Amino acid sequence: DLSPVRRALISVSDKTGLVELGQALAARGVELLSTGGSARALRDAGLDVRDVADVTGFPEMMDGRVKTLHPGVHGGLLALRDNPEHRRAMEEHGIGGIDLLVVNLYPFEATVAKGAAYDDCIENIDIGGPAMIRAGAKNHGFVSVVVDVEDYDPLLAELDANDGATTYAFRQKLAQTAYARTAAYDAAVSTWMAGALGEAQPRRRAVAGTLALSMRYGENPHQAAAFYTDGSNRPGVATAQTHQGKPLSYNNINDTDAAFELVSEFRPEDGPACAIIKHANPCGVARGATLAEAYAKAYDCDRVSAFGGIVALNMPLDAETAEAITQIFTEVVIAPGADDAAREVFAKKPNLRLLTTEDLADPETPGLILKQVSGGFLVQDKDVGHPADLKVVTKRQPSEEEMRDLMFAWTVAKHVKSNAIIYARADATVGVGAGQMSRVDSTRIAAQKAVDMAGALQMPEPPTRGSVVASDAFFPFPDGLLTAAAAGATAVIQPGGSMRDDKVIEAADEAGLAMVFTGMRHFRH
Ligand code: 5GP
Repeated sequence: DLSPVRRALISVSDKTGLVELGQALAARGVELLSTGGSARALRDAGLDVRDVADVTGFPEMMDGRVKTLHPGVHGGLLALRDNPEHRRAMEEHGIGGIDLLVVNLYPFEATVAKGAAYDDCIENIDIGGPAMIRAGAKNHGFVSVVVDVEDYDPLLAELDANDGATTYAFRQKLAQTAYARTAAYDAAVSTWMAGALGEAQPRRRAVAGTLALSMRYGENPHQAAAFYTDGSNRPGVATAQTHQGKPLSYNNINDTDAAFELVSEFRPEDGPACAIIKHANPCGVARGATLAEAYAKAYDCDRVSAFGGIVALNMPLDAETAEAITQIFTEVVIAPGADDAAREVFAKKPNLRLLTTEDLADPETPGLILKQVSGGFLVQDKDVGHPADLKVVTKRQPSEEEMRDLMFAWTVAKHVKSNAIIYARADATVGVGAGQMSRVDSTRIAAQKAVDMAGALQMPEPPTRGSVVASDAFFPFPDGLLTAAAAGATAVIQPGGSMRDDKVIEAADEAGLAMVFTGMRHFRH
C-alpha cells in the first residue's frame, strides 16, 4: 500500500512554511509543480519549479478564477495508477501523475471576519483549490493531499520512514482531513450568505449532515426547525422505523434520543429494562423479570411526570407491555422491535408514535457532542467513560444487593442533567432529582418525589427507605449526603475528589452508610 511521491503540485494562499517544504521535497527528489504566487515564492528561494500553466497549456486567467481547472491537472490527480485504461489515457493525452497535492484555500473565512465588502468575499471563494482537494482525496489510494500547514512535518516524516513513499493509512487520514476542510469551507460560504440574506434558514443550513425532516416548529412554535442525520447509521431515533403516529416533533426527537441512549446501557442479556423520559430527563428507569414489570416499576417512580412521556425499552415490545403503556397518554415508544400482538394493541391508539430500531445503541461507541454558544460551538467527546476502579471509603462495605443497586443508580446518573441525584431500590429508580443548581436541592427534590409517590400508592413508607443513592459529581459538603441518609438511603455512590471528602466520609460513617467512590464524574448539562 506504499505510494511513491515523485511529483507534487503546490498551490497555497497561506505561504507559511512553503519554502521549507519545497526545499525538503526537492531534496528528496520530488518534482515541483506550482501556481502563480506559490511558484514565484519557491523560485525566489532558488528552487526548480514547473508552472501549472505549462502543464495545462493555458495561462492563469480571469483574476485567477481559472488556474488549475484542466484535465492536465485533474487527470493527474484522479487517474488510478493500477488501471490499464487510466494509464493509457494518461499516455495518450500526456498527463503526468500528481502524487502529492499541497493546497490551502483562499482565506474566505478571514475575509468575512475582517468585514470585507460582498464582492470581495465572493472573490475569495476558492474554486480550483477545493476541486483539486476533493479529486486528490478521492484518489487517496495513490495521492496524498495536504491542506494544513501543520501536516507538512508529519508528511516529511512519513516520506523518510517509507523511502520517499506514503502508506495507505496515512493517505486515508489526510483524505478525511481534506474533506473536513472542503465541507467546512462551503459551510462558511453558506452561513455567510444566510447572514447576507438576513435569514438563519434552519431547514437549509449547511451542517455536516443530511436533511432528514423539515419540522413544523422547534422547541417552541415560533422557532423553525429541521432534523439532520449524520450518516453514522447508529441505531436510534435517526435510523428508527416509524410504524404509526404523527411525525416526530423537535422535542420528541430530543427526548426519544435521551430515552434510547439510556435504555441502551442495559444489555438484553442482563434482562428487560425500561426508561421513561420527560424533558430529556428520566422520570423512571427499571429492570424487571419481564418487560411489563420493568415498565410498571419505572412508571411507579413518578407516575405524575410519566404522563406524556417517552418510553424506551431494551427488548422488542410485547403485547402485555403495550397494554400497560396505553393505560396513560404516552408520546413515543421506542424499542428494538415490536411483535404483531403489541402492534395490534397500539393500533387502537393511532396518535401514539411507535419507533423500532434494528438494535440497541452501543453506549461505548465514541462520538462527538456539539453545543451551540453565541458566536460558535463547543465540541467534546461523548461521555463513554466507565470508572476504572471503585473504592469503598467507609467502614461499612456495601452488601451485594446494595452494590447492584449502586451500579444501576450510577448508570442512570450518567443520563440525568446535573446536578443529578438518583435514589434506587431493587433495580428501579425511586427518586430522581435533576437539573438543580445545588446538589442538596436535587437530593431533597428526589426524596420528596418518593414521599409523594408513597402517598399516591398508599405505601407504608417512602421507597427511599432502604434505597441507595447516586450523585453524578462529588458531594461538596456533608449536607446532601445527610439529606439522603435522612430519606432512608443506606449506601452512596459518587466520584469523590472534594476538598472536604474526609468530612463527607466521616458523616457517612456516623450515619452507618456504605459509600463507594468512582473517581469519575458524569456531569451533563
Ligand atoms: P497562488 O498564490 O499560488 O497564485 O494561488 C494559490 C491559491 O489558488 C490556492 O489558494 C489555491 O487553492 C487557489 N487555486 C488553485 N487553482 C485555482 C483555480 O483554478 N481557481 C481558483 N479560483 N483558485 C485556484
